[in-house]
Amino acid sequence: MRLFSITDTPPRRMQDESPTSPYPDTPFDVASPPRREFKARGSFVVRCESCNLPRLNCLCPYRVQAESRSRVWLLTHPIERYKPTNTGRLIRDVLPDTEVFTWYRTAPDERLLDLLADSRYAPFVVFPDDQEGYADRVVGMDSVIEHRDAGRIPVFILLDGTWRQARRIFRRSAYLADLPVLPLVTDRQTRYRLRKAASSDHLCTAEVAAELLHQAGDDRAAEVLDDYFEVFNDNYAASRRHAKPEEPTPAMRRLLAARQGG
Ligand SMILES: [Zn+2]
Repeated sequence: MRLFSITDTPPRRMQDESPTSPYPDTPFDVASPPRREFKARGSFVVRCESCNLPRLNCLCPYRVQAESRSRVWLLTHPIERYKPTNTGRLIRDVLPDTEVFTWYRTAPDERLLDLLADSRYAPFVVFPDDQEGYADRVVGMDSVIEHRDAGRIPVFILLDGTWRQARRIFRRSAYLADLPVLPLVTDRQTRYRLRKAASSDHLCTAEVAAELLHQAGDDRAAEVLDDYFEVFNDNYAASRRHAKPEEPTPAMRRLLAARQGG
């Protein structure tokens, strides 16, 4: 099985799956969005207002946009949305047409419903195929290509959260129930270092998007996103030591060159 979401997290959050989870089953509603609970940590550090990383580790000089024939829509769990280690936001930096929706169990996003009803798009829910009850909906990347060749815009809907959160979103969102399910099939191992993954097979959200783009033939977008993710990964890790990455990495050099039109 290949999960597409990181099964979290810093050690103090490893209890997410336990009965004593700090997050009750109905964690939030629209009226009370989660507080920005991570703000306190490291709040003495001056942060870039754009990328929210410490100034020393600002990601902005490496932000490069790319074109892709496929799109990504993120359905982000409210807890995940405010985590600075979330990689979903990197996707929108690279692919400006990326849509980001916060998932609330009781209130589907109206804009998302409108987009799902728009026949220009061919949406696919990216989710593993090893769970019960939806085998008839499972498709492969060939189906993505077919829709694209027929003139529609393929959309990868990524459920952005821990595995447990993603499963909840998948099971409890009626508007996803008729969509084809696209499992990510890959041997790629995660390079994400900011959270402890249960297995190196568990890719984080940006890595999943990069792999899907690659498989769908949007190689340039996949490469840029991969590089940008790597720079985020390195810079964020360095920021925990209040340091800067020592040398520009190859990924940094490629992105800087791309920004200069190289
Ligand atoms: Zn910045």
